[in-house]
Amino acid sequence: MRQRILTGDRPTAPLHIGHYVGSLQSRVRLQREYDTFILIADVQALTDTFEHPERVRANVLQVALDYLAVGLDPQACTFVVQSMVPEIAELTVLYLNLVTVSHLRQNPTVKHEIAQKGFGENVPAGFFVYPVSQAADITAFGAHLVPVGDDQLPMIEQTNEIVRRFNRLYAPVLTETKALVGETARLPGTDGRAKMSKSLGNAIFLSDSVDEVARKVRGMYTDPNHLRADDAGTVEGNPVFAYLDAFDPDRAGVDALKAHYRRGGLGDVKVKRRLLEVLDGTLAPIRARRAEYARDLGYVRGVVQAGTQRGRAVAACTMGAVRAAMQLDYFAEDGGVVGTPSAVSAASS
Ligand code: ATP
Ligand code: MG
Repeated sequence: MRQRILTGDRPTAPLHIGHYVGSLQSRVRLQREYDTFILIADVQALTDTFEHPERVRANVLQVALDYLAVGLDPQACTFVVQSMVPEIAELTVLYLNLVTVSHLRQNPTVKHEIAQKGFGENVPAGFFVYPVSQAADITAFGAHLVPVGDDQLPMIEQTNEIVRRFNRLYAPVLTETKALVGETARLPGTDGRAKMSKSLGNAIFLSDSVDEVARKVRGMYTDPNHLRADDAGTVEGNPVFAYLDAFDPDRAGVDALKAHYRRGGLGDVKVKRRLLEVLDGTLAPIRARRAEYARDLGYVRGVVQAGTQRGRAVAACTMGAVRAAMQLDYFAEDGGVVGTPSAVSAASS
């Protein structure tokens, strides 16, 4: 059997260039090597966007358009809408027993996000436990590999802790998984903050027009002490150079720009002009494909619907094994409601 990939995105907004270098590029590269499942995580999106279900709904199709636009091929990979696979919710409930509140509190990504969103003690319980629902996503599909940005590493660790605990306690039916971090583990925001995020207003979207990208690049944070072109500038922590590192195929050219910037005599305007050229090179074909698919939303919807159906079958298979392992398969043909759980009878026969 081919190994499986599971990864996904929260449909809180369309996807941005951080997704592209953090995860989408790896997915495109590996989609024919692995059985690839891509989850449009609407349930997870609702954990902090539950007051705006219309936003989540609208972005399900936008995210699917982004997938097609970057070259994810629906013949090779399966797009799945999370809420339409109730087995994921079932697994989440069962896994919640295998983690402690104090352990969940220590998750560095969730801790950071709780602070960033200003939740404090009033964090919605669903948001607080989303790493457990992510463990359900990953294990429902028996994924061996999860292409993600580095903010997701604590989630993969949490998943494997649940897998090991489950397999030890019940029966070895869950698959341990591995993270695959993209070449750019975390793309900073246009405002210089450490992570470009849909929800932080510091993103360049794959669907932005040429003009929007130009406006965002012009307004980008750079080295605040680099006031005149003649001044020596700092490259570290300067998102303009981080983007050039991530997108400019001309490595030697980037090195030369950095050296010039550091020594002084290179203005922000010039560096940004190069960045714009580079981003346009990446985004133009994506934009064109996106526009083409956007003309036939019926097709896109069909792709997502068929994928969700295939995905559900896989998750149902895992759920069957989990039920057997946990002695919850009351009406199974070989076990039945009358007594011996099927996992036990299988082990003793
Ligand atoms: P939100 O603000 O709604 O949480 P997000 O921008 O963090 O949105 P997610 O849907 O949470 O996006 O993340 C989807 C995937 O993209 C994850 O694997 C995540 O690690 C990756 N990713 C998101 N932002 C970046 C980034 N700036 N750099 C690299 N990878 C990223
Ligand atoms: Mg996120």
